[in-house]
Amino acid sequence: MKCIACGSTALIKGELSNQYGVAFQPEDAPYLKRIFAIGSRKIHAYACIHCSNMQLTVDFTDADRAHYQQFEGEQPDVLHRLND
Ligand SMILES: [Zn+2]
Repeated sequence: MKCIACGSTALIKGELSNQYGVAFQPEDAPYLKRIFAIGSRKIHAYACIHCSNMQLTVDFTDADRAHYQQFEGEQPDVLHRLND
């Protein structure tokens, strides 16, 4: 992975954390799953030792890729998905 700000490959891998950790939750997840963080995806952080830029990646599952890659570009909302 390269720093998107300066192009350096000197990135330090880490995690964003607070008391309970930080995770990615797709906004189209059902309300109760969002409340209890069920199905949330782990986030990895990479910080550039040269310019201090930080970039993030998300651990998507194969099921996530199959689900979201069926649409190109901006993801449609739930109602548009159901109508297609
Ligand atoms: Zn950098």
